[in-house]
Amino acid sequence: MIKHLINGKQVASRQTFETRNPANNEVIAEVASGGEAEVGAAVQAAKEAFPAWAAKPAAERARLMRRLGDLITRHVPPLAELESRDSGQVIAQTQKTLIPRAADNFHFFAEVATHMDGESFQSDSGHLNYTMWQPVGVCALISPWNVPFMTATWKTAPCLALGNTAVLKMSELSPLSADYLGQLVLEAGIPAGVFNVVHGYGKEAGEPLIRHPDVRAISFTGSTATGNRIVQQAGLKKFSMELGGKSPFIIFDDADYERALDAALFMIFSNNGERCTAGSRILVQRGIYDKFVVDFAARAANLKVGDPLDADTIIGPMISRSHWEKVMRYIALGQQEGARMVCGGGLPAVPNHLRHGNWLQATVFADVDNRMHIAQDEIFGPVPCLIPFGDEAEALKIANDTPYGLSSYVWTESTGRALRMARGIAAGMVFVNSQNVRDLRQPFGGVKASGTGREGGHYSFEVFAEAKNVCISY
Ligand code: NAD
Repeated sequence: MIKHLINGKQVASRQTFETRNPANNEVIAEVASGGEAEVGAAVQAAKEAFPAWAAKPAAERARLMRRLGDLITRHVPPLAELESRDSGQVIAQTQKTLIPRAADNFHFFAEVATHMDGESFQSDSGHLNYTMWQPVGVCALISPWNVPFMTATWKTAPCLALGNTAVLKMSELSPLSADYLGQLVLEAGIPAGVFNVVHGYGKEAGEPLIRHPDVRAISFTGSTATGNRIVQQAGLKKFSMELGGKSPFIIFDDADYERALDAALFMIFSNNGERCTAGSRILVQRGIYDKFVVDFAARAANLKVGDPLDADTIIGPMISRSHWEKVMRYIALGQQEGARMVCGGGLPAVPNHLRHGNWLQATVFADVDNRMHIAQDEIFGPVPCLIPFGDEAEALKIANDTPYGLSSYVWTESTGRALRMARGIAAGMVFVNSQNVRDLRQPFGGVKASGTGREGGHYSFEVFAEAKNVCISY
């Protein structure tokens, strides 16, 4: 049984749940299912560990973070395989990008922690103000299932590096890599209680965690619906809410066509389409629209769907049967709404031993009206909408006609147009002539229903540190 990690010890629960391999729906592991008692014990352990951890020199915490990053780097192959088996993310991504990125998270925030510089303000009235950043205390880190290890470490690294202690709750659909992380944290020499993991369902384990009075900050990544519920129930705490998206990928007819086509394919089909920053609404200017639909559909139809452990697979299985059903419902709805399905829509051929997996062909809808449900709702699968537009003003109007505002992509050779679009789009991030390329110093986060708060670089201080001001009269 996969157990919780509480105060450096493996702790079982009476209740358990099963985690399944989405490629065949076979049970991979029994996992302890925590509730109020386990959460209480984990928060207490984190609270007790906090003073000593916060008092360590930043350089010492940084040293331990680097050691953890190095350990993750050494464990990339088994971690990548475990993650692919538990989440259905393809091995080409977990091995080359997602697990190495987790190591980078620790190396990067080790550096940030040693440069937490404050400011000083000298007034004419004979007062000197100086600011300092101090850790918050016990933080709840709550992660979704789509890129579990990367997301968990994106939260854990700044949280611990800045002197806080943590209770991590992974999604019940992909908990295994967090268990591995817990073992590496201890191996790195990070003291017991600084990092705790409680497994379980949102209602049973998540809610007591976010409501706990000793939890001072919540870094949550997940759906907008859950984020809303958490903000209403948690009481007065610091929040970082990284929520859903329906990001526009806008291609003007002066764009570098081949690069834009490649990037559009990548931004919706990598990570199985289960990606918060997916360019799921592809807006294409009328002059190139018809050609783009044909080329995009032809390329999408050729993407290999199959075993996530095969090195050349591009699209793996959907995380769960119920998520697969949700995506299939949207495929049916898109046809009812009158969108033109130009590829996919069915089940791919897979080997016999994988026939019970949650498979889906890359499915492309063209001639989509932005008011359709398939264009307004986050489908979270390999199902893009192609939407034609006439001019810049119309592109901007369609781009912003969404409840969400996480990421956006603009493809044009005109600098002026790129700058105008970047200013006008209501989103936390705009990528110009680029797919989503991350620099860990960037502020990451969204506006509107995509969330509040930013993480990355010193922006992570917003959730994981408190600014204290000291005013001295002289
Ligand atoms: P989800 O909201 O169902 O669950 C996320 C986590 O919250 C899980 O660990 C779950 O157990 C927990 N949870 C559920 N109910 C809870 C409650 N009442 N209290 C506390 N915790 C609770 O989301 P999901 O289906 O796991 O993930 C997919 C969603 O995550 C998509 O909407 C996607 O866009 C979003 N996402 C956003 C980002 C981002 O950075 N903005 C990144 C990845 C995923």
